[in-house]
Amino acid sequence: MSPIQVTPENANRTLAAVPASKPRVIPAADPHDVMREQLEFLIEHAQGPTCGCAQCERYTRVRTLLLQAFDEAPKQPRAVAA
Ligand SMILES: [Zn+2]
Repeated sequence: MSPIQVTPENANRTLAAVPASKPRVIPAADPHDVMREQLEFLIEHAQGPTCGCAQCERYTRVRTLLLQAFDEAPKQPRAVAA
């Protein structure tokens, strides 16, 4: 998955190529759906043998973030009012 590179030059050319009578309306993807997809993709990838690639790294980072609350729970017990 490589990000599409849009340089100012490309963007101008693209805009110029689109006729004014045909406005291109591309509905934006729901970021939550995208996140779910990415998460599923990373989980699937991580289920195989760890290869240490960029996806493995992303998985580790995401997992750390998502499980942060659970990791911190024992370290930061809530103060119980007496
Ligand atoms: Zn990997």
